[in-house]
Amino acid sequence: MSARMPAWEILRDSLSSQTRVMELAWIFDFHTPAFVRVGEKCDFDGVARLLADAGVEAAIFHTKCHYGFSYYPTQVGTPHPRLAADVFGGLIAACRREGIQGEAYLSFGIDGAGGEARPDWRRVYADGSSDPPGWFINVCPFTSYLDERVLPQIEEIFRLYRPDAYWFDTMSALSPCYCAQCRADFLRDAGAELPVAEDDPLQARAGQWRHERGFATVNRVADFIRALDPKASVGFNQLGSLTYPEPVPEGVTVLTLDPDTSGAQSIPFSLNAAYGSNSPLPCEIMPTIFQGGWGDWSPGSPRRLETIAFACWQRGATFIPGDRLHPEGHATELTRSALPLVSTARSVWKTCAPAEDAILAPDVLVLHSPSLTNGGGRRLFAVGDPRSRLTPINGMHRLLLDAGCNFTVAAEWQLAGAIAGISLVVVPELPELDAGTEQRLLDFAENGGTILFVGTLPTVAGRPFQGSGVELGSEVWQDHAYLPPLETGTPEVLVRGAIRKAASVGAETVLFLIPAYDARPGLRYGWGIGPSSHEPSAQPALSRQTRGRGAIWFLNAPLASDYARAGNWPQTAWMTQLLTLLVPDPRARLIASGGNLELTVWQNAHSTWLFFLDHENEQLVGDGRLWARSTHGPAPREFAVSISAKSPSPGLAALQAAKTTLSKTPTHLTISGEFPPPFGALRIDWQ
Ligand SMILES: [Zn+2]
Repeated sequence: MSARMPAWEILRDSLSSQTRVMELAWIFDFHTPAFVRVGEKCDFDGVARLLADAGVEAAIFHTKCHYGFSYYPTQVGTPHPRLAADVFGGLIAACRREGIQGEAYLSFGIDGAGGEARPDWRRVYADGSSDPPGWFINVCPFTSYLDERVLPQIEEIFRLYRPDAYWFDTMSALSPCYCAQCRADFLRDAGAELPVAEDDPLQARAGQWRHERGFATVNRVADFIRALDPKASVGFNQLGSLTYPEPVPEGVTVLTLDPDTSGAQSIPFSLNAAYGSNSPLPCEIMPTIFQGGWGDWSPGSPRRLETIAFACWQRGATFIPGDRLHPEGHATELTRSALPLVSTARSVWKTCAPAEDAILAPDVLVLHSPSLTNGGGRRLFAVGDPRSRLTPINGMHRLLLDAGCNFTVAAEWQLAGAIAGISLVVVPELPELDAGTEQRLLDFAENGGTILFVGTLPTVAGRPFQGSGVELGSEVWQDHAYLPPLETGTPEVLVRGAIRKAASVGAETVLFLIPAYDARPGLRYGWGIGPSSHEPSAQPALSRQTRGRGAIWFLNAPLASDYARAGNWPQTAWMTQLLTLLVPDPRARLIASGGNLELTVWQNAHSTWLFFLDHENEQLVGDGRLWARSTHGPAPREFAVSISAKSPSPGLAALQAAKTTLSKTPTHLTISGEFPPPFGALRIDWQ
C-alpha cells in the first residue's frame, strides 16, 4: 500500500533496495544484568515458529544491551558474563528458516560494560559527573568509543550474521556532553568554552553544533554499514520522529517512532501513526505488550494492543510491539498470549485494507516544526526530554480527533509531500517556521487553501509570518479568556494560557475575546479562573485575512496546549463549529461522535475507505508515573459520518460494521451504524 507522499516517490524509488514496508514486526528487549543466567534453555525454533504463525515479518534481537553485554560470542565487545549460548545467532538463524527477517539491536548511547572499562568513554553531565558503574552508563560517541567499540562490533555482527537491519537505540547519545573530547571539539569549532548555563547566549550555537556533529556521526555509522552491506536497513530510534521532526540523516532508511509507554497510549500512538504516514521512509511504531511499559512483566490489555495495531495499520505504518524474551532463551507466556491477539487483529485488518493504489485522503493537516522541540535556533536540540515540548501538537491532535475531523499531522520537512488535497492547515502554537514553509503556506492560500494559526504567529527568520493581517504584541493581555460562541445557544469557551495583545492590520476581526470579570493577567479567583464578564473586548479572538483564493485565519488563544492540559467539552464543540466554517465541504466528517473516535479516509479512483477507531475505555492507573489499560467494552460503538458525494448511486460495503444505514442528498451521503470496538471499516464504491 502506498502512503500519501507523491513528492517523495523519487526518493522512495532510490531507496527501494534498502527499504521495506511491512505491517508487523516484533522487538525483544533483553537488557540482562551480569548475575542472571542467559541462554540455558534456548528454544530458538519455538520462538521463530510462534512469530511465523502470527505472521510476523521481521524480528529484532539484542546484540548489545544497555548493560553493554552482548548475546553472542563477541571478540570485540563484552559477552554477557553468564552467556551459555549464541542467543542472537540462534534466534536470527531460526527466524530466517521461517522466512522472518532478522534484525540486530545495538544500544548506541548506553553501554554499562564499556563505560565501566573506559571512563574516558562516559558521557559527562554539566556538573562534571557521569553515571556510576554497576548499571547503565551513558557513553559519548564523540570519544574513541565509536571507532574502538561501535564500528568494530558492527563489522563483527555483519561478518558473523549478516542481519537484514541494524537498529540503534538511545539517541540520548546526541544530548549535551561535557567530556574532554566534546569540550575540546567545541573550543576548536566555536572558539569558545562549551556553555553550561541554560541562559548562556552560546547555547544556540552549541545546539546547532550538537545537531551537525550528531547527524554527521549517525551518517558515519550508516555509511559504514552501507559499505559492508548495501541492502541492510538502518534505523536510529527517535530520529525523524515527532521529537526530532526533521529529515533524518541520509543513511537512515527507516523511521522508528517510540512514544512514551507510560501515560495515555491509544491516542498518542495514533498521533505517531498520523505523523508517520507522511514520512518518505517506511515508518515503524513501537508500543509494548506490557501494561507498565518496557520494565514490566504484566500484560497490557488485549484491547489496547488491538487498538494501537489498528492505529498503525490504518495509516500505513509498521506495528512493532515491544516484548521481552526469557533470559533462558525462549518465549514467555506473555509472548504466547500477545501474538495470537495481534494475528487475529491483523486478519480483521486484511479484510478491510484499502487497495494497493489507494492513498490517504485527509482534509486537514496539523503542522509540526522542529522549533517546537528544538527551541529557537536548535538551542534545545536533544536537551532533556523533547517529548515534554510536544504539548501543542498533542492538544491539537486530540482536539481534531474529538471534533470528528478527517486529518493528518506533518512536520515542515514533510509538508511538500503532504499538502496535496488538503483544505486546511492548522499551525498550533509553533514558535518558528522556516522561509520555505512560509512560502509553501502562502502559495497554498493563494490557491484556495485555508490556514489557521492558533495561539501565536510563528516567526520566520526573526520577523512575524507575513500575510496574517494581524500584529501580535509581546505584552500578555490576559492569562485566560473566553471565546464567544460560534453558534447561538452554545456557551462561551474558556481558554487558559498566555494571550498576547493583538491588533488587526488588515484582517477582518470575526470574533472578539471576552475577558474574565474584572480580569487582570495573574488574577486569581481563589484557585484560579475568573468567571466570564460576558462583555467582548477590543482584542481579536478570531480574525480572517483573505489571500488570493484562500484565507489566513488567526485564533488569539492557546487552544491547542490548553486542550492538551485541560481540554473541556465546550472547546470540542467550538472547534467542531469552527471546522464547518473553515472546511465547509470536507471529504468526510464524523457527526456528533462524542469524541474519542478517530476517522481515517483512503481513496482511489473508484472507492473511498472509511476507518473508525474507537479510543474509548482507556484508564490510567498508578501513583506518580501513570500506566494505561483499556477494558473490553461489550457495547458496539455507534458512528455517523457525512461524506461528500462523488456519484449519485454509490455502493456501500460494510467491511467491519453492522446495522449500517445510508441516506443521500445530491451532494452528501450520511452513513450511520455501529461496529464492534475498537475498529470499524466501510468502503464506498463510486459508480
Ligand atoms: Zn562527549
